[in-house]
Amino acid sequence: MRGALRKWAPSYFPLTSHLLPLTSYLLPSELALDILLMGPPGAGKGTQGAILAQRLGLPKFATGDLLRDAVKQGTPLGRKAKAVMEAGHLVSDDIILGVVREELAKPNAAKGVVFDGVVRTVPQAEGVDRILADQGRALDAVLFFDVTDAELLARLEKRRSIESRPDDDPKAVANRLLAYREQTAPVLAWYEDRGVVRHIPAIGSVDEVAERVRHALNHA
Ligand code: ADP
Repeated sequence: MRGALRKWAPSYFPLTSHLLPLTSYLLPSELALDILLMGPPGAGKGTQGAILAQRLGLPKFATGDLLRDAVKQGTPLGRKAKAVMEAGHLVSDDIILGVVREELAKPNAAKGVVFDGVVRTVPQAEGVDRILADQGRALDAVLFFDVTDAELLARLEKRRSIESRPDDDPKAVANRLLAYREQTAPVLAWYEDRGVVRHIPAIGSVDEVAERVRHALNHA
């Protein structure tokens, strides 16, 4: 059975209780550990993703960071994405999947990747699945960061006063939350159907949430 199928079938392959230890005896083509972080804007994916990636010794790949860099450098990708991002809308699936394919072709992605905010529509979820399957890989876990709306708005407002991201102005924030509700929230159900989601209550200190992430990956 292909690695991808096996990983999607928790009853046959009970990785829920052995997720990390399993990597020590998987076949070489199945050594990769791929973890996707999901949640609304402001849920703390970036902060937790950095901690997790460092702990696992994996690269963190955030489409938001990559696109912001491209905008700053004025590359063709950045020129295409700039207005859409600043308005708080989603960049097209084609662009995102192109970027994912490029990222996964890099040698440092061979052992696995922490994907931060990379999948925001169902076609992107399907595309990422295909790209990973081409390498004999599949997502090992989807961590969903759960935060109330009131907390999200407070966090984004605070970030706005510190970082001044163009898409943290109130109108763009409203669009980002709308894009999240309409296009990204259904992705959660898509992954729930495949049995790979772990819910992380994302309120509390950075250390507390990081500990929940560690626990969810080891024991869920
Ligand atoms: P947040 O999730 O807090 O809105 P990010 O830095 O992750 O912030 O993303 C910033 C912007 O980059 C998004 O609002 C969107 O325009 C674009 N973006 C990032 N990832 C994707 C994706 N997978 N699909 C579509 N657009 C994306």
